[in-house]
Amino acid sequence: VPDDDQAPLKPPASRAQSKSRNSSVNGRLTADDFEFLDELGEGSYSTVYHGRLRATGQEYAIKRIDKAHLKRHQKEATALAEKNTLVRLGSGHPGIVRLHWTFQDEWSLFFVLDLARNGELQTRISRMGSLSIECVRYYSAQIVDALGYMHSKGVIHRDLKPENLLLDDAFRIKITDFGTGKILDSGGEPTKTFVGTAQYVSPELLEHNESSKSSDFWALGCIIYQMIAGRFVFRGLSDWQKIKQLEYSFPEGFDDQAQDLIRKLLVRDPDQRLGAGPPGSPWDMDALRNHPFFSGINWRTLWTDPAPPLE
Ligand code: ATP
Repeated sequence: VPDDDQAPLKPPASRAQSKSRNSSVNGRLTADDFEFLDELGEGSYSTVYHGRLRATGQEYAIKRIDKAHLKRHQKEATALAEKNTLVRLGSGHPGIVRLHWTFQDEWSLFFVLDLARNGELQTRISRMGSLSIECVRYYSAQIVDALGYMHSKGVIHRDLKPENLLLDDAFRIKITDFGTGKILDSGGEPTKTFVGTAQYVSPELLEHNESSKSSDFWALGCIIYQMIAGRFVFRGLSDWQKIKQLEYSFPEGFDDQAQDLIRKLLVRDPDQRLGAGPPGSPWDMDALRNHPFFSGINWRTLWTDPAPPLE
């Protein structure tokens, strides 16, 4: 991972007044500029803390990545991908965790991120068994909107799943974990690396080791199914024949419009998946937003409307 570069990420306005003991002299932030509060959780190569910037009192999630661990497990590329994709996405969308600053010391890399106080959507699904159809509609719409922005910036996530969908103070979605994120070259050609999580793996990844923007829409179909049914649509790689043959069924009472939407997302041909088609095609992003399942959604006020109660 190259030296941290705070250039694209502006320091806070009151940075100059910082009383931090050990602030760096070149105007860069250091760990001493933050108060580390509780630990939010651990990842495979990082620990995430709830932190506060002393100068402003603003709270963040601070991801600390152990450099030695990164090197030992050859995860440098993952950390770099996470940083690069987040820098590319900037502060452009409320549904995507924003990277505010990065810095490092001798032992660790630090990523200062938006704090999502209400944890992972996965926890809510597990706790409640499944979500109400109103909740599913709201969260699916937020994921669609965030994906639209992400893809317009040439970024694909490649590991969308409820563990990577965090909830902020207002219980709105913040997509995180861009370690498998990929910035597409101009053509948006498929990428050739096997990444992702078994239950959300698309047929093209299984068959050709390829993923593209469209693979994020496959994962979206799996997530919508899971939020409603309270279980995975495919259990994992052991289901690979079922994934390829689209062998799955809906439990009784499953919302009709949601079924129709999921059928249009869990399509074998990545080019014909709803949301993934070129603009003007019957499968483009507008067609996805206009799907009857979303008819109650006001896309303009989606990020200011209150979240339905999680039940
Ligand atoms: P892996 O790195 O193996 O994919 P992970 O994505 O869970 O695992 P981290 O991104 O390091 O790893 O996150 C560790 C924990 O911290 C997770 O439980 C996650 O919910 C929590 N977390 C991560 N980012 C934030 C954030 N911005 N706000 C609040 N909690 C967060």
